[in-house]
Amino acid sequence: MNILQDSSLFRTRNYIGNAWIDADSGATISVTNPATGELLGTVPRCGGAETRRAIDAAHAALPAWKALTAAERARYLHRWHDLIQEHKEDLARILTVEEGKPVAEALGEIAQNSAYLPWFAEESRRLYGQSIPSPRSGARLLTHWQPVGVVFAITPWNFPMGMIPRKAAPALAAGCPIIVKPASATPYSALALAVLAERAGIPAGVFNVITGSATAIVDAMTADPRVRKVTFTGSTVVGKSLMAACASSVKRISLELGGNAPFIVFDDADLDSAAAGCVGGKFRNAGQTCVCVNRIFVQRGVYDAFLDKFVNKVRALRVGNGLEEGVNMGPLINEDAARSTDALVKDAVEKGAIVKTGGKPHALGGCFYEPTVLAGATPDMRVFNEEIFGPVAPVYVFDTEEEVIELANRTPYGLASYVYTRDIGRVYRMIEGLEYGMTGVNDVTLATAEAPFGGVKESGMGREGGCESLKDFMDPKLAVLGDIRA
Ligand code: NAP
Repeated sequence: MNILQDSSLFRTRNYIGNAWIDADSGATISVTNPATGELLGTVPRCGGAETRRAIDAAHAALPAWKALTAAERARYLHRWHDLIQEHKEDLARILTVEEGKPVAEALGEIAQNSAYLPWFAEESRRLYGQSIPSPRSGARLLTHWQPVGVVFAITPWNFPMGMIPRKAAPALAAGCPIIVKPASATPYSALALAVLAERAGIPAGVFNVITGSATAIVDAMTADPRVRKVTFTGSTVVGKSLMAACASSVKRISLELGGNAPFIVFDDADLDSAAAGCVGGKFRNAGQTCVCVNRIFVQRGVYDAFLDKFVNKVRALRVGNGLEEGVNMGPLINEDAARSTDALVKDAVEKGAIVKTGGKPHALGGCFYEPTVLAGATPDMRVFNEEIFGPVAPVYVFDTEEEVIELANRTPYGLASYVYTRDIGRVYRMIEGLEYGMTGVNDVTLATAEAPFGGVKESGMGREGGCESLKDFMDPKLAVLGDIRA
């Protein structure tokens, strides 16, 4: 790849054990740039046999990795993090050409998520057990935290770089080797991270990347009792099937699934701040994030004023190839995504929505779609009930707090929600009334290594970030000491 300073970061083979391998069959998957349609290269189409070998490698690495002290493991994670910082420009370009988001956004994804590595490296050094008062005088009760064992991570295409440190940092810090299966559309970010893991000296088998047929890989993984924990980010439909498949060997599972985020603007909100937040929260990654604003509810008194400010900002977005300077929004991941976005817009317009800007495929063609604002949206439209996953912003009007809480909660999802108001009492009522894992108040930035990111209802289970999430990769081991009195 001639846009990189260090071209060895672009790998077309899988990293298993400390070897770079092809599929046994030699079969491959093609990867294209969504902005240009250009073929970037291929990666191995691995299946069950290669998956079992990856599990062999991770399982063989487990005893020595978990025997290291937390401080020793931390040193590897810090080195990996430092290498990611050193190569962030190249990593961002790899991310942009395979996924489409602008380079500045790719750099943000890398900075925000690589920060999980040093944070968990240090957090694992403070993972204290307990001495529990025993009900029996001759006994003592002690706990300490043990790694669960081999972890399998399955990641989506929309954050191909970011999702990996989020999962690998707590797993590795806890003492668990990990195998990552990235999305087939965006495997090169994961493979570039593997190059840097190798350079950081992370021992063979501790960090592995396998690409290929999702079903063949996942079938072999779920059937193998040596995999003790699965961490998945992706769609709710796949998450549910994975949860069922993990039941056969009772694997621990964390699920970060889809969302349908409400963005609520009350009469007393700072409308400039709300409009800016809404543009960021809606159009980041061309509307393809799980925490993307999906339904914008505006109180009647400020509906027109908010809409004006919002539409003006959306019209100013520059769409194009993410490698170009000054581009704010790239393409969608593929042409199917652009077609489904268009179908959602057509459905809304047929049911009475007014297109204020955008509303059709972009003149650049292919995977590009115009940033779109729909006024007069109503709950009978598909955009109300489905995760849009495209650059379409439907705006609804509401009158009362009770009404908007009911509308916001009228979905099986419960990941992110946003509220703009200056009324402190209302802030609390909204935080407590919204059935969501996260609520941004006058803010749309939710994910950070220090805090628990995740959803309720059908948006998933478990959290990424924060001290609780380290324990998702560990078990509390109880030791009962009897016969203390001789
Ligand atoms: P997806 O279709 O569910 O794919 C996610 C991963 O699962 C990919 O690696 C995919 O592999 C794999 N996969 C596909 N079919 C599978 C199966 N039957 N069994 C096991 N794994 C399978 O989701 P996506 O379209 O990539 O990502 C978008 C979704 O992710 C959205 O719903 C979004 O909201 C959600 N998401 C959630 C969060 C969060 O933190 N809650 C963050 C980001 C994204 P292949 O690519 O090889 O098919």
